[in-house]
Order: sequence, then structure tokens, then C-alpha cells
Amino acid sequence: MSKIIASGAIRGAHSIFAKTEAKLARAKESFGADHAVELPNTGYYLPVIYGLTGEKVEKLSDMDRVLDIARDMLPEVPSEKLYLPYLGTTLDAGIATLLSEECHEALNYLDNDPPPVTELWLGAADDVIMRAKGVEFVDGSAPGFAAVVGAAPDSATAVRLAREMQEKMLYVFMAGSTDGNSFGKQLHDEGIQLGWDTRLVPFGEEVYSQIYSIGFATRAAMAFGGVQPGDYERILAYNKSRVFAFVLALGEVTDEWYATAAGAISYGFPTIATSDIPQILPTGVCTYEHVVSNIACEELVQKAIEVRGLKIKVTELPIPVSYGPAFEGERVRKEDTYAEAGGQRSTAFEFVRTLDAAEITDGKVEVVGPELDEIEEGARFPLGVVVDVAGRKMQSDFEPVIERQFHHLMNFAEGVLHMGQRDLIWLRISKAAKDKGFRLHHLGDILHAKLLDEFDAIVDKVQVTIYTDQAKVDEMRAIAEESYAARDARMAELTDDNADVFYSCSLCQSFAPSHICVVTPERLGLCGAYNWLDAKASNELNPTGPNQPIKKGMCVSTVTGEWEGVNEFIREKSGGAVERMTCYSLMDNPMTSCGCFMAIIALMPMCNGVMIVNREFAGMTPSGMKFSTLAGMVGGGVQAPGFMGIGRGYIASRKFMAAEGGLSRVVWMPKELKEAMRSSLEPRMAEMGDPNFLDKICDETIAETEDAVLEFLTTVGHPALIMDPMF
Ligand code: SF4
Repeated sequence: MSKIIASGAIRGAHSIFAKTEAKLARAKESFGADHAVELPNTGYYLPVIYGLTGEKVEKLSDMDRVLDIARDMLPEVPSEKLYLPYLGTTLDAGIATLLSEECHEALNYLDNDPPPVTELWLGAADDVIMRAKGVEFVDGSAPGFAAVVGAAPDSATAVRLAREMQEKMLYVFMAGSTDGNSFGKQLHDEGIQLGWDTRLVPFGEEVYSQIYSIGFATRAAMAFGGVQPGDYERILAYNKSRVFAFVLALGEVTDEWYATAAGAISYGFPTIATSDIPQILPTGVCTYEHVVSNIACEELVQKAIEVRGLKIKVTELPIPVSYGPAFEGERVRKEDTYAEAGGQRSTAFEFVRTLDAAEITDGKVEVVGPELDEIEEGARFPLGVVVDVAGRKMQSDFEPVIERQFHHLMNFAEGVLHMGQRDLIWLRISKAAKDKGFRLHHLGDILHAKLLDEFDAIVDKVQVTIYTDQAKVDEMRAIAEESYAARDARMAELTDDNADVFYSCSLCQSFAPSHICVVTPERLGLCGAYNWLDAKASNELNPTGPNQPIKKGMCVSTVTGEWEGVNEFIREKSGGAVERMTCYSLMDNPMTSCGCFMAIIALMPMCNGVMIVNREFAGMTPSGMKFSTLAGMVGGGVQAPGFMGIGRGYIASRKFMAAEGGLSRVVWMPKELKEAMRSSLEPRMAEMGDPNFLDKICDETIAETEDAVLEFLTTVGHPALIMDPMF
């Protein structure tokens, strides 16, 4: 262990601790010791402190206990003359730093000194973001994150580094500055879109704000891994093995940076520095080296990936703009748009069809009609994207699965915005992309390369035709519509009763080891990303992968949806943690929940029904808990009768809570969710003989407590009130 690093980290820890202690004293003087303190919209209090110590910081005086712990962990600064092995004490200093930094940053929310949220800086990530983005870490669409501290030598280098990390699908969390400049500011000045949607997340100007990166990782362990607050050993071990993060230190490393990096090392996150600081090469706390220094900016990202042991698969595409998931959330504003198609203003559709291999010339991309540079700037042009595929294992059932990938595959291109599917698409191409040489045929090049890459087990040949001639667009659209109708008829036929097999999804086991989603034709995965057809296609693509067929076996109960084959599968794959599981019951051995669910069903005993809250709803629910608090109870791969995470699509299923009476049990939903579900719930309400049932479901604009919900239900004659007791 380097004495220079150890001394710097310990000095830095003392400095941050002292500043936090003084800031807390000032806050108590101004607001009083009982004044509430919190980070925005989280059920995890101050998450690093909660995760590592189990302490719930709710008011200023609660911070005293935390700073007592930090004080006890602070080692003496190493003496000039005596050399000791410093690793343990340095790591202690790192943890003391993290505890202090989190208090410091939470106090900023109270005294606004400095303001935690500005035009540039985003401040803490709330639980809605953490869960939405955490899913990407679960399913591998985000391999990890880089915590960037300081500033690049110049803005052009900052942009190049950011683009490189975006293309490698990494999240970039920024905090800390060098000589008043910072990576976030450099990108902002260059007009780069920052935010969670582009994976370039500027947390704050001071290095202390990197605590939000650690808070994100700590919550992931609790939300997805089922680690209990206070179980610091498992929090740290979980992060070392499952959250692939690293620190990039740009510029001169100060004592406070050393201290923060020491905290990150405890989580298994190594530091890669551009400056010539001592290295810590032995492995142990991190998977490989702890500190690697003197790395040129050109090699920085590659070196970090190597040191953290990340595996990143990038397909090179023959297109003139950057490409990767980080561009999926990029907006193409009207004033930046060169031309657009669809969005209800011009005919536009996309369509996959299966042909014989002999009918397809692999790699052929044709534009029928004007190319982008032949279309007038500002025009709304007609568009048809027809993708012909062939493959020995290709089935028509897979066409919609492949077609749904178009959205992200096109959106990943910098300067391309794509929304919707089938004949309800909207595409914009930016002026900047057009100026870089991007043309419509590049959309075809993307689809050809990525479909062959992602669906290599079922697709052997791909050709793409892009129509922009109105008459041809209309002609091809009529063919596509026939196919859409045939698919809809096929989907309507698919039911749990006539399917021989269900499919598992074990993707979330990397985060929640005892959780398995059982995906049936009438119940999709709880993240909403996998329906039965997706899981079936995924199994064809990767027969030993996360989606395995489950033979249903003998039926134990058609009412609760319990089968012997499913039970056996779940028992084995959960390592014995779950013995039995039903597909249609909330109360009787319900499906476990990982942490990726789109919504939560929760029992409302007084109302003899349930409420459903979606994760976008940040307000209080009549259960007395916000989504984030409920999520903490439900997640982690445990069965919690009365509470369950679900995909939103399941609410419109005939099998929704069939054991407890189905949709009629729903007594409260956020208004936005009610409206979003209205059209898909119409067939179910018609079957109930109550086409206006949705209006009998209470929402936050009507009532926020269970008593008030009950009063509303009585007024409207809600059916739950006269149904059998739920338990
Ligand atoms: S289907 Fe279930 S296990 Fe699979 S990614 Fe979604 S939530 Fe996770």
C-alpha cells in the first residue's frame, strides 16, 4: 500500500469529516436539531448510511450517530517516519469519508449551500430513476458505470471520452472539478445532451457528490439483491461481484479525491488516474488492481474496462454517427430536425416478414424513392421500412419480436429519434446527423447488422427496403396491415390453457438470486420487457440462456394457476428458497419480485381489495407508503402475500389476480395509470358487464387515505365491497 495514497486519503477523510461536522452544527443552529433532512423521493433514507450501518437518518440530530461512527473509523494520519501496512486504515478512512459525504450532500438540500440542483447539476437520483436504470444493469444493457472526477485536459477530449463511454454502453456519473473546471461543465459547454436519458449524469460540482454514485450502487444491492440494511459485508461483496463500476480521476488528485477513491475501493471499484500518482497493483479488495495511474486519455476507458474486468461487446457499424444505448434517450428537437416521417403527419410504418432464403439477398439495402439529401429540409416524408428475413429456425411468431427491436436499434444512432411501432411510428433525423453524412440507407445498414448479430440463431439473411415514394408506401402498408391483423388473431388465440409450456426468465437472478419470473401467454414478466413470445424467441436464440421452457405438468389448481411442473422448476432454480408458486394469486404463494417491476399490487384490507401503484407515481398512496417504500418490502426475490410486483400489461390480462376475483378487486390506482390502461382494460370491463368500471376505481385526486377510499367505494357501489373476504 502506498504511503502517499494512505496519507492523502486519511488527510482527505479528516478534512471532509471536519467540514461536514461544521456544516451540521450550522444547520442545527439555523433549523433546530429536530428538523427533517432527506434526499429527494427515496425510501432508503440516506442510502449509503442506511445500507452500511442500518441507521435511518430522518432529522438533523440523527446525523450525530452517523458522524460518531465516522469519527471512530477515522485513523491517525501516518507519521512521517514509521511505515505500517496502511490498507485497512485507509479503507476505514474511505468508509468514514462516504458517511460524511452523504451527510454533507443531504445538508445541501437543506441550506442550499451550494444548491444541489442547478441548470447543469442534477443532484441525487431518486428511487424512480434508480429502479428504472437499475434494470439496465440487471439485463446487461448497461455493463457498468464510470464515476468521473475532475476535468479532461480540454473540452474536445471530454467529448471524445464521453462518446467512447456512451458507445460502450456505460453510464457516466460526474462530480468534482479541477481548477474550477469539470467534466460535466466541459460537456455542457460543448452542447452535449446531459441527463439520465443519455447516460451522461452530472451529479455535482464537488467530489462529495460522487456519493450519489455510491448511493445508487448501495440501493441496487438492497432493491435488487435483497441485502438487508446494515449488512455492510454483503453490500460491499454484492457491489464487488455485480456492479461493474470504476473511478476515472482526471487531473491532479487531491487528498479529498484520495479519500473518496478509498471509499469506492471498499466497494470493489478501482481508480484509474491520468496523473502520475503511486499505483496499488495487488488485487484483493477490488477484483484486479486498486489504483492504476499515469494513463493517457486515449487509453483511459479501455484500461478501466480491463482493470474492472468488464466484458463489453460492441458491433462496429458502417454509419457516420456514434451508435449505442446512450443515444436512445437523446432528443431531436424540432429546430434541430432535418426531416421527419410519421407522427400522424405522414404515412409511416415498419414491418418484418419472413421469406424463403432464395428470395433474399443478404445485406441488400435499397431506398425506393428520394434519399434524405433529396428530401427538402423541414419536410415530412412518407416512410415504409420493410425488413425481409430468412432463417432455418425463423418462425412467423418471431416477426413481432424482431420488429419491436427496431425502436431501440434505430434510436441508438446519434441524431435519430424513433418512436412507436407498426404503422404508428415517428422518425426524426437531425441536421447534425445529415451533415455528418447520415442517410436513410444507414437505417437499413443498422437493421441488417444488428438483427444478424442479436438474432443470429434464428436469422440467417436480412434485406431491407426503405420506401419514401408515397404510392409504394401505400402499397406496402396494405400488405403490412394484413400481417398485423393475422398476428393479432394469433395472439388472441394464445392462452395459458392451450400453451404446453411456459418460460422462465432468470435474468434478474444476477441481482436477486432467488427470483424467477414465470412468463405465460397471459402473464408477462414483471419488468414488462418479456412476454411469452419474447421468451420463446430468446430460448431459440440462446437455448441455455435465461429463458427456459417450463413444462406445466399436473395442474394443482386452475383457479390460483398452480402446476406441479412450475413448482418443481421454481424449487430447483431458486435453490430451494421458494417451494410453491401460483401464477394468478396475490395471497396464495404469489410470484416473487426482484426489483424491476413496473407496478406493485398491495392489499387494502379495509376495502377488501387492492391498490396498484406504478413506479412513475412519486406521491403517497392510501397504503401510507410511497412506491419506493413498498418496493423495498416487495423486492429481493421473496414471496410477500398481499404484495406483488407486476408488469403493467398483466392488469389487462384475463388471468389478472384470477384467484381473488380479478380486476373487480382493484380499488385504487394513480390517475395517470388509470388513463394509460383505459383502452387495454376496455375488453375486460366489457366482460365484467361494467364498461365504466374504471371510474369506480379511486385515484389520488379523489382520496389519499384508505378511509377516504372506502368512502368513495361505498358511494360508487364498488364490487369489491360485496366480494368474498380476501383473507
Ligand atoms: S422478465 Fe423478470 S427476470 Fe426477466 S428481466 Fe424482466 S423482471 Fe427480470
